Amino acid sequence: MLRPLLPLRFFWGPIVIAAVGLTVSAFLIPFMLPTTLFVCIILAVAVLTRGRPLVRLCLRIVTWRSRKARTVALFFPASLEQSISAGEVVDTCQRDVDDLVALFQFPPSSKIAIYLFEQERDINSLLGGNTYACAFIPFNAVLVPAGRSFQTMLRHELAHLFSARVGDLAPRLKSEGLAVWIECDGLVPTPDQAALTFLAKSGGLDSLLEPTLFDCPRTWRQCYDIAGSFTKFLIQRVGWAAYCQFYKAAGQANYGAVFERSFSLSLARAEALWQESLKAEDESAKKLAEGDNGDVLRK
Ligand SMILES: [Zn+2]
Repeated sequence: MLRPLLPLRFFWGPIVIAAVGLTVSAFLIPFMLPTTLFVCIILAVAVLTRGRPLVRLCLRIVTWRSRKARTVALFFPASLEQSISAGEVVDTCQRDVDDLVALFQFPPSSKIAIYLFEQERDINSLLGGNTYACAFIPFNAVLVPAGRSFQTMLRHELAHLFSARVGDLAPRLKSEGLAVWIECDGLVPTPDQAALTFLAKSGGLDSLLEPTLFDCPRTWRQCYDIAGSFTKFLIQRVGWAAYCQFYKAAGQANYGAVFERSFSLSLARAEALWQESLKAEDESAKKLAEGDNGDVLRK
């Protein structure tokens, strides 16, 4: 059975654009036909470019099933019905949202729509680039794949929905770092040697203030690992409340200045301290491993 599952908020953008376009056109047609045509062309281009993923998404999910909980609504294709327990999945989603409500100390702005795709490549074919999960912040919606990475990707994208209400998502060193910290439940692993070598070659954390390396297919994974680890270091050092104050104030243009004002140290000095903490962590892990081997040998 065909059921329209899209929440009304999915349509408010196109509805407002169409209403404004029609009003402007109706007013201008008798007087200024060239201007009207120009407005219509701009609107058409806007819908065909920026709105295309949304239109494709709407067409795709129109027949999907749904399951609702207190503050989340789960949408999924009928083909997943046999392989997942929708009740368990929606409970998991609700628990993750509740965790974030407790962390951020505010509820979702409205019910969160979670679109569960069968595979990462289904989302990638819709959105392109390196995108295998996504948060549609204006619509309070996330797109995530089912499978092994479901929960980490869900927590990551939900983190974007919540953190976008605290402060700017730029630079991505800040927003992706926090999303990785949340997806790992605060236990972000140490970046591997390849990531640290890449960071040294690219010029340190300063180079991650621009989105270029985050968008590059060869370096995005390392950027996320580094941003998550650096965020873990900052939160451990200053605490969650002070980190949130920094997150709220820092944007692309003032990141360095806000960083220095918030933490009383420069980004370069913080980077050096973070690198020292990674080395200390590495050494204590090695000692622990040696100790374990000794125990094994003694047995
Ligand atoms: Zn992200």
